Amino acid sequence: MVVLLARFHLGTTSENHEELVNALHRRGYHPNRRTLHNRTVVYVPNTAPTAELAAFLAANPAVEHVEDVTATPPLVSASSTGAPTTVRINRTVSFSPGEFVVMAGPCAVESPDQLATIAHEVARSGATVLRGGVFKPRTSPYSFQGLGERGLSLLAAAAEATGLPVVTEVTDVAHVQRTAEVADILQVGTRNAQNFSLLKEVALAGRPVLLKRGFGCTVDEWLHAAEYVLNEGNADVVLCERGIRTFEGATRFTLDISAVALVKHLSHLPVVVDPSHASGRRELVEPLALAAAAAGADGILVDVHHEGAAALCDGDQALAPDQFSHLTNRLRALRTGLAAAPEANLLVSARE
Ligand code: PEP
Ligand code: MN
Repeated sequence: MVVLLARFHLGTTSENHEELVNALHRRGYHPNRRTLHNRTVVYVPNTAPTAELAAFLAANPAVEHVEDVTATPPLVSASSTGAPTTVRINRTVSFSPGEFVVMAGPCAVESPDQLATIAHEVARSGATVLRGGVFKPRTSPYSFQGLGERGLSLLAAAAEATGLPVVTEVTDVAHVQRTAEVADILQVGTRNAQNFSLLKEVALAGRPVLLKRGFGCTVDEWLHAAEYVLNEGNADVVLCERGIRTFEGATRFTLDISAVALVKHLSHLPVVVDPSHASGRRELVEPLALAAAAAGADGILVDVHHEGAAALCDGDQALAPDQFSHLTNRLRALRTGLAAAPEANLLVSARE
């Protein structure tokens, strides 16, 4: 099956869009129409030869661009917006070109003191989003499962005290509404990356979604998971590469840095990297975070703990506060250096 996508000009009206949809129906097609922020697209799954349909779409004066998006899910594909999407979190924080969002905090919220201490430290060292899990998807049922709803209140208090917005994971459809009252970003973890009923529920919660890549998912499966969220009308999706399972056992997972560069090319969505869960080893977090920034990521998600050895979850991969501060300093230096030598447009020169 071939999928053709037509992107409307900015400023076109719903009458313009309706008119094209109706004309397509009259010709026997089954078009879908969606609006992502300020962009409306129509995409048409089609089994017949596409040249005639492409010409018909392109001839519509309201249409800006027509593209065959068969290889990438239509709403996620770069052609649906024609420009990188900005995911705004609050007045000061957004995932957008030129910005680098540092999300940091404990893997799991453990106690009021633990969260308050770490939240204060990461805020001081330049984190702009506080992370902390309260519903923990643990491999073993005997491991610490998180504080649940009680942890949400602690996150709310830490957000209030530091002024930082909060990202936290939801593992169950039943927790989505309550979590969305506290969290500024809803995280879907690697183990739920293809839990489609959860993805649809999270999409409808009115919050941006941080979608981790399933550790056994291809890039295509990851992008299709994001398509579920966009298809529900929520265009505020941030993709997170957090390592995949490979034959390599020396690190917890294998950080797929090529996927970061590839997805930045295929999609308009922001992409961030979690070097903590990818490596499982604190000494690798800084080099991987720097690699992520150099590869074009829009931010990182990092575990920080002031007492890593005593952490109830993933202590081996948590940076101490001074290590986190070191990381943010080096990130700043790297980004300043990169800004002085802007990116070449390799895509354009490759096509010439
Ligand atoms: C987390 O960020 O706390 C987490 C559980 O990550 P992942 O889903 O990538 O394992
Ligand atoms: Mn963890």
